[in-house]
Amino acid sequence: MLEIIDKKRRKQELTQEEIAFVVNGYVDGSIPDYQMSSFLMAVCLNGMTEEETINLTDVMIKSGDILDLSMINGPVVDKHSTGGVGDKTTLILAPLVAASGVNACKMSGRGLGHTGGTIDKLESIAGFRTNLTLNEVIDEINKIGMTIVSQTANLVPADKKIYALRDVTGTVESIPLIAASIMSKKIASSSPNIVIDLKVGSGALIKNIEDARILSNLMISIGKRYNRKVVCILTNMNRPLGLSIGNALEVKESIDFLSGIYKSKDLYELIMKLSSTMVSLGLNISLEEALKKVKENLENKKALEKFYEFVKYQNGDVGNIQISEKVFSIKSSYTGFLKEIDTLKIGELVRDIGAGRLNKTDIIDPTVGFVLNKQVGDYVLQDEELLKVYLNKKDIKISDITACFHIENSLGEIEPLIYEVIKWIY
Ligand code: URA
Repeated sequence: MLEIIDKKRRKQELTQEEIAFVVNGYVDGSIPDYQMSSFLMAVCLNGMTEEETINLTDVMIKSGDILDLSMINGPVVDKHSTGGVGDKTTLILAPLVAASGVNACKMSGRGLGHTGGTIDKLESIAGFRTNLTLNEVIDEINKIGMTIVSQTANLVPADKKIYALRDVTGTVESIPLIAASIMSKKIASSSPNIVIDLKVGSGALIKNIEDARILSNLMISIGKRYNRKVVCILTNMNRPLGLSIGNALEVKESIDFLSGIYKSKDLYELIMKLSSTMVSLGLNISLEEALKKVKENLENKKALEKFYEFVKYQNGDVGNIQISEKVFSIKSSYTGFLKEIDTLKIGELVRDIGAGRLNKTDIIDPTVGFVLNKQVGDYVLQDEELLKVYLNKKDIKISDITACFHIENSLGEIEPLIYEVIKWIY
């Protein structure tokens, strides 16, 4: 192991055997945390070639089970988001694409740091089960066309162990490590079609568009080796997505959306883009035809019905989603345009009132969060409400919240929500 760390420190390319030695040794416990941490930091600083990254992905995939989707009737599309603030897209997309004839098999994660996780959001619905057996997953998809479950224990165990170490050793922000982590899980989940919502900006893991392009092309190269269609959609995370941030509040916003209440232009635009891409890949139809289909299934409420069926299948009681009754309205001290929202800080504040975790063992409070009344680009009057804060056990300083809202006399140019699409479809 020492020789391999030293080789990476000297910026030399590692062989397939060396990479397998590191990953397998770490998973079986023969390589200790301190050596793995040193190796990961060397990768962070000196990078990996495309070939090294593909080899890393391959050993990670082989560290556990590979899902067998052959029992599923009809096309399957998988979607991944690199995580952001207020990102509830999976909750809306899965029923929407299912209603449009494409199976959505989604293994989701929990939130860590300032970004929320889909599994935590779903667990704010009383009774909701996220740990289905593989047979239940297949049965649910064949009956309803969708599932959202937590990752089964043995799907890429190498990623689970390595990601937990990266999280506490400052080695998360490495393009090859992110690419191998995401693509190993997507490939082990077996879907032939993969759509990745790659968040870019202050509230995201990837802060700039150049890095997002490099990461997209790397994930596409990995996908090619496994004959997967991969589409990366680079989207703006310099502002929260939608209006609500916090677990139960985000579920409510998703149900409102599926019921035809679209309060956030950004959320609507992103849902249309991602869902039409997924349906176009799954059904092999044009993006225009796919968009028409998803709009139809949103408007005729078939997607909402799917959501209810899915919650019921997973034992949830959609009539029992608790939101804290301690609500405070935060008003603007100024008149002007809302030019910017400090997204990272907002994510951290919501986490700190109990919606997220600092440590893996922290217990989430699903009832708390923020609901924005103003979005970037809006005109705000002095004393007008900026947002509502739902608190429970923990407290918060009002000045910490208002400092996140930058109100100015002129607006200037607003950045687009969708920057670009990078894809490979064979
Ligand atoms: N999401 C993942 O699954 N892995 C990473 O490394 C980063 C984001």
